[in-house]
Amino acid sequence: MAQSLSKWEQIENTFMGRINVTAENIFPIIKKFLYSDHEIFLRELVSNAVDATLKLKTLSRLGEIKGELGELAIEVKIDKEAGTLTISDRGIGMTEEEVNKYINEVAFSGAEEFLQQYKDKASDTGIIGHFGLGFYSAFMVADKVEIRSKSARLETTDASGSIHWECKGDPEFEFTEGSKTERGTDIILHINADNKEFLEDYRLTELLKKYCRFLPIPIQFGTKEEKRKQGEGEGAVEETIVLPNYVNNPIPAWTKSPSELKDEDYQAFYSELYPISFEKPLFHIHLNVDYPFNLNGILYFPRIKPNMDLNRNKIQLYQNQVFVTDSVEGIVPDFLTLLHGVIDSKDIPLNVSRSYLQADGNVKKISGHITKKVADKLEEMFKNDRASFEKNWDDTKMIVEYGMLSEEKFYDRAKKFFLLKDTEGVYHTIEEFKEKVDNIQKNKEGNTIWLYASDLMAQHNGIEEAKTRGYQVLLLNSPLNAHLTDRLERDLEKVQFARVDSDSIDRIISKEDDIPSKLTEDQEKQLKELIESAMDKDKFKVEVAKLNSDAAPIQIHVPEFMRRMKEMSSTGGGGFMGMTDFPETYQVVVNANHPMSEALLSSSEAEREESLNEAIDLALLGQNLLHGAALSKFIKRTQKQLEIKLGV
Ligand code: ADP
Repeated sequence: MAQSLSKWEQIENTFMGRINVTAENIFPIIKKFLYSDHEIFLRELVSNAVDATLKLKTLSRLGEIKGELGELAIEVKIDKEAGTLTISDRGIGMTEEEVNKYINEVAFSGAEEFLQQYKDKASDTGIIGHFGLGFYSAFMVADKVEIRSKSARLETTDASGSIHWECKGDPEFEFTEGSKTERGTDIILHINADNKEFLEDYRLTELLKKYCRFLPIPIQFGTKEEKRKQGEGEGAVEETIVLPNYVNNPIPAWTKSPSELKDEDYQAFYSELYPISFEKPLFHIHLNVDYPFNLNGILYFPRIKPNMDLNRNKIQLYQNQVFVTDSVEGIVPDFLTLLHGVIDSKDIPLNVSRSYLQADGNVKKISGHITKKVADKLEEMFKNDRASFEKNWDDTKMIVEYGMLSEEKFYDRAKKFFLLKDTEGVYHTIEEFKEKVDNIQKNKEGNTIWLYASDLMAQHNGIEEAKTRGYQVLLLNSPLNAHLTDRLERDLEKVQFARVDSDSIDRIISKEDDIPSKLTEDQEKQLKELIESAMDKDKFKVEVAKLNSDAAPIQIHVPEFMRRMKEMSSTGGGGFMGMTDFPETYQVVVNANHPMSEALLSSSEAEREESLNEAIDLALLGQNLLHGAALSKFIKRTQKQLEIKLGV
């Protein structure tokens, strides 16, 4: 065997050697620090087997390897008694030189680099999360690893040229002539005491499902029984046949061309990805890019409702059909982590830490591209089939809103198809709505006020009042509302949003300069003091205003600005983060022109107190602010009045 490696000692026909001396510390590190993620050894070894099989197929196609290739499936086997786990492939195999080069020498370079880079952080398992050390990760779970291999380039039918390598998890290894007669490689792991779980069927099944589900070469793990009918009619008998149990789908939908797939195929693939999900996705986007980087995948838009539990770990990231991670935060734009599906790119580095992945140039480009594709798809649906776009809008708008708020580029695209729903259920684009209300809802300062409600029931009164003036009211009920209205105001010139209950409607959209007051200045002052005396002055800020005589006598509001600040701080951002303790204050608007105001002032002191309390209670009730004893009193009083009316 290899004479060139003089540092080896030859003992009869066995070469004893030391794996690259500088790497002495690697074994303890592999065993100890990678512990939390030791299950990835299976991904590493099975992907090596897949690579070896793909290499064989390529060489065969190029005519460098002759003859039929025969069975190519990879097999994973457990032998509980022997305590071994074996991964066998019928791929390219390794010659003696190749084992020297790739296993004994080179394989460590990656590990060494890792050691250098992460010497200090090695105990922080979070960082290491996605490190793979290729073949050597086997030592995370095994105290002895054997390689039996025969290269496809050897055109022999006996074992000559095949190799047997074995290493006991220290830098010593043994390298001898092998006994393998067939092409391919067996990697045999003698599972160590701490990792006996990897000799359990259920655990292996789970891992193969996680990491190998879409690898491009069939992977067999054990067998399965299937019942089949033999014969016809009465004579038919049921037979049990034993079949290889394949754990993967080697040609998943995303690797196919979109033109080959129908809607049902996309739905079926969704069910394959999420077998226990009952929800159907609304629509999908097939990513299919070759240049300037490689990107394939299918993204699904799930139904997303306000107040729904958001699941951000539904997108699976693959590299060449090898599972990398299902936690894609920082890899795809944040707003798109709400989507479901698969992203696969050859250009995503596999064996690196999350922080490295996030900083990777290709990953960034891919992220930008996905954003663009999502915008393309939404715009296309909006243009081609507005009716169904509208039908899905309520379930998708959260993602769009989130995207508009977090990605400038997406905002610019989305403002063309972003829909505003009004209280009648009619959808408008921003442009359409602008046209509709520009003149009617312009105030005396020349700003157009876009009225909205967040709750049809609670703000019913305000909506009705706005409608009597011929105004349009939008229904904006998303949790991101405060941020969104702010963002739109920054973009749209001379547009201001105001919730219908943020003030009296004629003050929200003030048209004329001044409505004359029916009260003298003195009377106004007196009225203000009167109301203040009956309310908590710190909480309720009283103001006497000259409104139309048909507007309510006393109204209680939370001003637009105050409420929005509060909302923003509760959903984060807007510079109000953490300021959750806004003082609870309300604005009380007393209508100087309502006949009641004059009547209150001129009534006797005894009468006045009762009427005043009733008027205030009514206003509080309108804002859902009447609670406790005050509410009980109000109900009793109303009941008494009813009894009087009915003559009870
Ligand atoms: P990587 O796969 O990242 O190159 P590994 O340590 O996993 O690193 O493997 C080192 C090399 O050993 C591979 O590049 C390949 O040449 C060879 N090798 C590993 N496993 C097999 C196998 N099952 N069949 C053939 N060659 C293999």
